[in-house]
Amino acid sequence: MILIKNVFVNGKRQDILIEGNKIKKIGEVKKEDYGDVEIIDGEKKIAIPGLINTHTHIPMTLFRGVADDLPLMEWLNNYIWPMEAKLNEEIVYWGTLLGCVEMIKSGTTTFNDMYFFLEGIAKAVDESGMRAVLAYGMIDLFDEEKREKELKNAEKYINYIIDLNNSRIKPALGPHAPYTCSKELLIEVNNLAKKYNVPIHIHMNETLDEIKMVKDKTGMEPFIYLNSFGFFDGVSVIAAHCVHLTDEEIKIMKEKNINVSHNPISNLKLASGIAPIPKLLAEGINITLGTDGCGSNNNLNLFEEIKVSAILHKGVNLNPTIVKAEEAFNFATKNGANALNIKAGELKEGYLADIVLINLDKPYLYPKENITSHLVYAFNGCVDDVIIDGKIVMRDGEILTIDEEKVYEKAEEMYEILRG
Ligand SMILES: [Zn+2]
Repeated sequence: MILIKNVFVNGKRQDILIEGNKIKKIGEVKKEDYGDVEIIDGEKKIAIPGLINTHTHIPMTLFRGVADDLPLMEWLNNYIWPMEAKLNEEIVYWGTLLGCVEMIKSGTTTFNDMYFFLEGIAKAVDESGMRAVLAYGMIDLFDEEKREKELKNAEKYINYIIDLNNSRIKPALGPHAPYTCSKELLIEVNNLAKKYNVPIHIHMNETLDEIKMVKDKTGMEPFIYLNSFGFFDGVSVIAAHCVHLTDEEIKIMKEKNINVSHNPISNLKLASGIAPIPKLLAEGINITLGTDGCGSNNNLNLFEEIKVSAILHKGVNLNPTIVKAEEAFNFATKNGANALNIKAGELKEGYLADIVLINLDKPYLYPKENITSHLVYAFNGCVDDVIIDGKIVMRDGEILTIDEEKVYEKAEEMYEILRG
């Protein structure tokens, strides 16, 4: 058992008792009432739910800074896809560990990923102590042979992750996008999602170019096209980006309970546009936050995403009252947990013990009264302790599960291979 004593949680000073992987009690807890208890002094700290990043390509940490300031298609075709062709399981493993170090240090406890070489990713996630939903990224480029291969891989990886039998790691299906995946593939993805009861993680409506590609081919906007063959029926979908949407598409998103992964920094950096988040919120659509990969962000610090989502929509709508601080914080916690169907994102008894502690003795967190405001508008993401699934993963800034120095050394080594 772990007892966090006298910590600021849910608006007041209380204790948090953790038993197994869950929060057993929040309130006044006497150590004597329980046997073997590890105490964490919460006196100077605030406890918040671990953040949930709903759109990542974790191994892309190794692509950080390689190709900035380019259009999306040029960025993908000339830099990212050629480097990805050199990846192998070992490179992906070290890239993932680097990402895990970065996420843990910035208060993220769960991420929703789409990539390749899932054995390497899963191994790193397992060792790091993080929680993750992993999807194999499928692209068939409308080729039948590729389609068969991709579907086989996707199913193989679902079974691989199920067989790991690790409650922190769950499988998902990751068709890349409607402009890179055939209708036949997408129909099969819907069938597989129902067969294995796993969510679908897909890129939707990121750029005007890609929407034009889908429209030229099908005569329909992406959400309308996918809906026309039942892609959203009977499944849970996390749609990354959703930048350019027609009213009719928003209607479908609402009807089909689509979860949106809003990636404002990636969308700004690649000049894709700005997602109509206030409009989606008004329709009651679940908004979550993602960083996207480090090729287009260039970090995994979800606190930056919280701040940008809170200020960006105010600026473009000339309205300072929209996307309030608490709402933006919920994007990264509660809403993310809802999208991934995990009992986390809030600090409540019976919930998963995914808890982040922040030492309040930081200049940008004073005066201490309006902490939620500080966490959204003033904080840089530098957290102190991280507990995931009831285990202490970081204590006073030191990660206990990963050899950080070794990860940095290996990251450089792997980068040299990718550069060729
Ligand atoms: Zn992405």
